[in-house]
Amino acid sequence: MEQNKCLTCSACGALSCKNDDGKYPPFCLTKSLDQDLLQETLDIYDNDETLGNIARVSAGIEGDFYGQKTRVEETIEFIKRTGAKKVGIATCVGLIPEARLFTKILDKEGIDYYTVGCKVGAVDKSRIGIPDQQKLNRGCGHESMCNPILQAKLLNEQKTDFNIMIGLCVGHDSLFLKHVEAPTTVLIVKDRVLCHNPVGALYASTGMYSRFK
Ligand code: SF4
Repeated sequence: MEQNKCLTCSACGALSCKNDDGKYPPFCLTKSLDQDLLQETLDIYDNDETLGNIARVSAGIEGDFYGQKTRVEETIEFIKRTGAKKVGIATCVGLIPEARLFTKILDKEGIDYYTVGCKVGAVDKSRIGIPDQQKLNRGCGHESMCNPILQAKLLNEQKTDFNIMIGLCVGHDSLFLKHVEAPTTVLIVKDRVLCHNPVGALYASTGMYSRFK
């Protein structure tokens, strides 16, 4: 239960907004919603062809394949259904092998792509004020910074229709999303400890490791 602050959806056990069954909790966001704000969002789905199409294609894929297709398959399906002609890939250079496996699938599907690794530009971390003690390999000289803003700008230059992030670090992904122009999805979230499966930490927190608290 959330403490010392107003209750929001993460504290809700009803989830009545899923089917509008009327059993909303007292603090429900749906019940107290600003109707003008709701209408503003609906207008976007109605009037912005690209964003409305994304919403409809996403819901269509969810409806057709929920629990049946992997995220990789759903992503390919999304690219095909939205008609994206060129796909941008922003990848961590540490996950280039995974990016290469994914691009093999894109090749097979006849989908055009352009990949930019996070170290593009090869600028040393000291350029943005990172001290040697915070480099991965201390005392070894040049260590390139991740430059997600450059990744975004290079993909913008390529006029990609849709982008896919592969393993960008937390924070670097934020900078990429802040600067990229085309709609973007995440294929892999980096978590070196959990095989890029961050939810494992949450599941473990309620599983056997909860006994050791
Ligand atoms: S909108 Fe209301 S019903 Fe839906 S999850 Fe939030 S609090 Fe629960």
